[in-house]
Amino acid sequence: MLRLADLHKRYGDVVALDGCAFGVERGEIVGFLGPNGAGKTTTMRAIFGLVALDEGSVTWDGRPIDHETRLRFGYMPEERGLYPRMTVADQVAWFGRLHGLAPDEATRATDEWLARLGLGERKGSRVEELSHGNQQRAQLAAALVHSPELLVLDEPFAGLDPLGVENLAGLLAERARAGVAVLFSSHQLDLVEDLCERAVIVDHGRVVLDGPIGELRKASRYRYLEVEVVGDRAWWRDRPGVSLVAERDGVVRLRLDGDVDLGELLDAARRAGRIERFTFEPPTLSEVFREAVRR
Ligand code: ATP
Repeated sequence: MLRLADLHKRYGDVVALDGCAFGVERGEIVGFLGPNGAGKTTTMRAIFGLVALDEGSVTWDGRPIDHETRLRFGYMPEERGLYPRMTVADQVAWFGRLHGLAPDEATRATDEWLARLGLGERKGSRVEELSHGNQQRAQLAAALVHSPELLVLDEPFAGLDPLGVENLAGLLAERARAGVAVLFSSHQLDLVEDLCERAVIVDHGRVVLDGPIGELRKASRYRYLEVEVVGDRAWWRDRPGVSLVAERDGVVRLRLDGDVDLGELLDAARRAGRIERFTFEPPTLSEVFREAVRR
């Protein structure tokens, strides 16, 4: 498994990593979340020895990660690094060769991954001729071509169309089923909620939440309530400990502090009109995220 322990990194006065620590098991897809500047990219770069850490360690199966081990990892960096003038197929095959594939294996794997990523018909095109989303697919093929044991993807879904998102989500799930450890960063929390068992949320360079998504949702210190009242729709306003999260088609989603008296709240809703709906809903991952990184 991948283990990151007590990672510290400063850039001058900026603390990028401040004790960041978590692990990723084989066969697991972990969604790596955090606000802009929280330290996700720095953490991912540290796995590949691209950041000189001030403190901390990164290990794979208990051992420090050397060059040989890294050849068995796949990485899609934030700053995408394809050569604009090379064809897609040459490029992906070249990444395969860099990671130890023989020439014929590299060609075969390139064809396979480009087809799976929906780029089979563009394999002879130069990278610069591709749209942004298709360049992204080519970059993903370059990260996958050598069948890595660990996949680390920095914002792999950003820029993909809905079909591309679905395709990549399926591919990552299939890789995880094949025993690959998958870590990816994303700001698309609905997607993470659908795809991942586990999420790690970082803020200010440290992990603020880590666990199975279902448990993180259950452990929220707030309750979320959806109510539809036909009558005075603003009945919930000015009630202490009650805040509005969303309102749509007459249904309000409210966040309640732990000490809000539910009997009193129900009475207030009744006084306001006919109640069509009054249900508790666990928080979404997006709500869990907002609670965890509240400033
Ligand atoms: P985003 O979601 O915006 O991609 P992130 O979570 O990936 O953000 P990082 O890119 O890891 O965040 O940045 C963490 C902090 O470290 C930020 O404050 C950033 O400005 C700083 N930082 C990162 N790399 C460098 C660098 N090479 N030099 C100076 N500061 C840096």
